[in-house]
Amino acid sequence: MLNEIVNPLLEWYRENKRELPWRDRNNAYYTWVSEIMLQQTRVEAVKPYFARFISELPDIPALAACPEEKLMKLWEGLGYYNRVRNMQQAAITVTEDYHGKLPESFSALLSLKGIGRYTAGAIASIAFGIPVPAVDGNVLRVISRVKECREDIMKQSVRDQMEKELCAVMPKDHPGDFNQALMELGALICVPNGPAKCESCPLENLCRAKQNGTVQDLPVKASKKERRIEERTVLVIQDGEYTAISKRPSKGLLAGLYELPNVLGHLKPEEALEAVKEMHLEPLHIEMLGPGKHIFSHIEWRMIGYRIRVSSLEEYRGRELIFADRSETEKQYAIPSAFGAYVRYMKEMKEEKK
Ligand code: SF4
Repeated sequence: MLNEIVNPLLEWYRENKRELPWRDRNNAYYTWVSEIMLQQTRVEAVKPYFARFISELPDIPALAACPEEKLMKLWEGLGYYNRVRNMQQAAITVTEDYHGKLPESFSALLSLKGIGRYTAGAIASIAFGIPVPAVDGNVLRVISRVKECREDIMKQSVRDQMEKELCAVMPKDHPGDFNQALMELGALICVPNGPAKCESCPLENLCRAKQNGTVQDLPVKASKKERRIEERTVLVIQDGEYTAISKRPSKGLLAGLYELPNVLGHLKPEEALEAVKEMHLEPLHIEMLGPGKHIFSHIEWRMIGYRIRVSSLEEYRGRELIFADRSETEKQYAIPSAFGAYVRYMKEMKEEKK
């Protein structure tokens, strides 16, 4: 039955596709960057990141040669920083082995670091016109509903089967449009949250879930493991001019990024003051800040925060802390959005002083 969806889907796509800065540019690097950014982030949020990234790193050799701190800064706020680290590793391979151009082969793309079946399929079909599917969450949802498939889409075997079926009906002359049409339909019409807009869907008359009233039950998705809750206390330590930050270890969560000092558990004010003294600083004043929350894929941070005024950061003799003013943080140090609830106090301190 998937044969029947091809033409209505392509027609709908050509009339309704969104203008996106990476679309219709025939540039495999742009397709790659946008697909990686879009993995965890909405289209509207990605647009300014994409523009900045491409203007600073216009091609693959530029990405390969980019200093780590600058790369992290360009990615700051997008999260899942391993994505951009892997991209740089792949860019180094492409620069060394393929003269700085992505290889025009699905299997060669798949062999690059951080490029999985979906991304390889998207680049191969969109940028190079190779007829291979690109099955992401949007596509899984649309196809599950059209076919009224009740199998768990988290299973690799179910994804493999869908890839196989899509491969069989893929229009050889427009594979990129076909893949993008499915993704676009999933993003705009057969949406993940809220009711599907079946009345505007080009597949309404073909869709079995629509015909049988099962749209809301599909796709079937086994629930993921619950996230671990971690309580943390974030310390905004300032002397009126600078705020203390530190660099995270080079491995693990938020590896190599900068952070506001923080400790496990929800500390009482006197415990927070003690923690600051242990850093060999002299606290003068403490103010409780509001709560913060950040959700990672497998952990959820529930944070409380204190702003602690210390006598002078210049007297600090340890090595762990770095003292940054707001402009340095903006230009130089990548602080992940996990600390977003507290980073703004760095600016306030500066403004109070003026
Ligand atoms: Fe999704 Fe409705 Fe279209 Fe079926 S008819 S593909 S459920 S939007």
